[in-house]
Amino acid sequence: MFLLTSLAMAIGSTLAAGVTVGFDPALAALIGAAMSLLLGLVGARLVTLQARRLTEVAQAMASDHPERRASVASSGEFQELGDALNHMADKLERTTAELRGERDRFGVVLEGMVEGVIGLTLDGRVALCNRSATAMLGETKPPLEKRLLDLVRQPALKDLLERARAAPHLRPDEVRESDVPQVELAMPSGAKLLWSAWPLDRAGIGVLLAMRDVTALRRLETVRRDFISNVSHELRTPVAIVYASAEALCDGGLEEPPIARDFAETILRHAERMSRIISDLLDLSRIEAGAYDLSPSGVHVTERIRHAVRLIEPTTTARNQTVTAHIEDGLTVRGNPQALDQVLVNLLENASKYTPQGSHIEVGCRRDGERVELWVADNGPGIAASHRERIFERFYRIDAGRSRELGGTGLGLAIVRHLIEAMGGTITCEANEPTGARFRVWLHA
Ligand code: ADP
Repeated sequence: MFLLTSLAMAIGSTLAAGVTVGFDPALAALIGAAMSLLLGLVGARLVTLQARRLTEVAQAMASDHPERRASVASSGEFQELGDALNHMADKLERTTAELRGERDRFGVVLEGMVEGVIGLTLDGRVALCNRSATAMLGETKPPLEKRLLDLVRQPALKDLLERARAAPHLRPDEVRESDVPQVELAMPSGAKLLWSAWPLDRAGIGVLLAMRDVTALRRLETVRRDFISNVSHELRTPVAIVYASAEALCDGGLEEPPIARDFAETILRHAERMSRIISDLLDLSRIEAGAYDLSPSGVHVTERIRHAVRLIEPTTTARNQTVTAHIEDGLTVRGNPQALDQVLVNLLENASKYTPQGSHIEVGCRRDGERVELWVADNGPGIAASHRERIFERFYRIDAGRSRELGGTGLGLAIVRHLIEAMGGTITCEANEPTGARFRVWLHA
């Protein structure tokens, strides 16, 4: 612009000087003025154009094209303005990229969390809900803007939100777990969720909620409690009998040999029972603790079946039962020979114990692709479908009295399943045709 003005002035003065060399002075002045005006107009137009170009660049930066920059062709003040604009745009872009990175990292952490996280607005609407929380609420997508108390209609949750709102606002490093209001809720899905709530007053969030799924934990606690009570119950009877018999012996029973013998035999029987329970419990805990050496090796199934049948023979012969083995020669499985013996003997003993005199038992093995199937079947009364899964639980018996009478501890099938799973296999129980029970075991070939 300065250049043009100076040019106009120079031309004006040149024309004015022309007067001295013979031009009509009035005409020369007029032409000079016209040229100055023309150049002034061109100069002004150029200024407007540059200003408009910078405005356009600024507008583009502010809208969809933050990458746009002012051209370096500008000069003078416009160049300075353009540089300042470009500098500001670079800085803004860097800051935006940093913020975007931070937001993405936060998003990845939030979405990857096992815990559910919900942010509620001051009026109790969902402003933030991660994937776990969405699933825990039984929703398919984050229920944004919905009122949480409409989604979970439980007075205890309303109470928790009120307690959270009334709690003091603390910095995260000041919060102690015991200060955080919590409540455990049973959800319609059957899941048990532990909810914690913090008051907040930032980014439009009034309360921040965290939810932890404690279903499995509570189930384990129940199993542990039931287990302890079952063990105590199982041991209480024999201990009481041993105690009473010993007392009777001390109180004069010893003076009468036939009675003393009866009491002594009772003590022996119940001591044996306690010893069986304790040894089964130890087996279970050893398998669970991984202390049972089940390092897999190629076990010859045929040999193990023949060995187990030999061990059970005295019992089956005494009960007039027959055992048929269907053996495919040369089969091996990945497992442990002692563990496999324990499994087979347990299943064969049960087949003998829970079927009447003279019944028939079958045991066999066959290759099934990558696996080997072993089975033990009988033609006894069988096991009703409602009991088939539960008989593998500790101390579960269909007829507790009969099982005890037969010397059972209720732990045999629990041990069998643990051993098979430790060897990487599976076991099922089904009905045998036309009657009886059939246990099928699959192990890796
Ligand atoms: P137990 O020490 O009582 O035999 P198990 O865990 O070995 O314990 O078996 C659990 C229950 O499963 C038994 O009490 C019995 O009721 C049932 N059961 C196991 N095997 C058979 C079978 N072959 N036929 C019928 N019932 C069986």
